[in-house]
Amino acid sequence: MPLAETRLLPASPEGLDEAAAILRAGGLVAFPTETVYGLGGDATNDRAVARIFGAKGRPRFNPLIIHLPDLAAARHWAVFDARAEALAAAFWPGPLTLVLPLREGTGLSPLVSAGHPTVAVRVPAHPLARDLLTRFGGPVAAPSANPSGRVSPTRAAHVIEGLSGRIEAVVDGGPCAVGVESTILSVDPPLLLRPGGVPVEALEAALGHSLATGGSATAPNAPGQLASHYAPVAPVRLNAAYGEAGEVFVGFGPAAPGAVTLSASGDLTEAAANLFHILRAADRLAGQGGRIAFAPVPETGLGRAINDRLRRAAAPRG
Ligand code: AMP
Ligand code: MG
Repeated sequence: MPLAETRLLPASPEGLDEAAAILRAGGLVAFPTETVYGLGGDATNDRAVARIFGAKGRPRFNPLIIHLPDLAAARHWAVFDARAEALAAAFWPGPLTLVLPLREGTGLSPLVSAGHPTVAVRVPAHPLARDLLTRFGGPVAAPSANPSGRVSPTRAAHVIEGLSGRIEAVVDGGPCAVGVESTILSVDPPLLLRPGGVPVEALEAALGHSLATGGSATAPNAPGQLASHYAPVAPVRLNAAYGEAGEVFVGFGPAAPGAVTLSASGDLTEAAANLFHILRAADRLAGQGGRIAFAPVPETGLGRAINDRLRRAAAPRG
């Protein structure tokens, strides 16, 4: 059922109270996290969770991440072994999602984990997200607040662009600081399911060993693993030295005045924060029939997450 209007809620105690009330009533609220805006619904309410899949047009086999205000709350829904405890202590709150055994009999909607015996949990660092989660007092299922397969939102206006009329409200918390989604780690055995806001190097340092990468484009555990994802309308070309005729060129490092760059100083943190906004802007600039060409980005630190998103943006569309 289409809603008349998606409300923009202010980042104030009143706005967050209103957002929590909408969640309690089974409604959907997008809210800022340090990674991207999440599309939140009560993870114990089947109808709310079903509506998340509906609003995004997301395949039901793709499980959702639940968001909690702290580690103690997370332990209620998932089983933490010693390794999971250590990772949570090192990286939470922050852009790391842990895939852990689902605790039985908690009342979590089975739609959240899409039939898996595991659940993905995260404690976000964004103060507004934590405040909202505390006010709500339960687990919030929240995939990125964009139509499935499209570019993730890093501003409230991006959410409105993609989901207006399909969700009750958006809390406007300004631009997201990290700008790429959380790193997803399956904990036992340790397996990297998606590169993201916590660099793989930092996880490997904490674990004391290198990490294997899991999942595949044909049998995805994570929708972020689908070959085509994060896709703008315009076709994308990677590792470009310059823009050809009909292409919007996005550089990495110094750019000519007026040209587009992910980061003029070649800073990966800045490039990650800019990525989805620039991808959207380049898509608009390219217009009908135009294309986007990206300069190479180093495959280290946050560069891994950036390149992962760019490869999927460039992948043949399904
Ligand atoms: P999004 O919220 O759109 O960034 O996507 C959330 C990601 O978490 C998806 O890629 C999910 O497939 C992944 N995820 C959630 N639950 C699980 C799980 N139990 N096992 C593996 N991946 C999961
Ligand atoms: Mg997503």
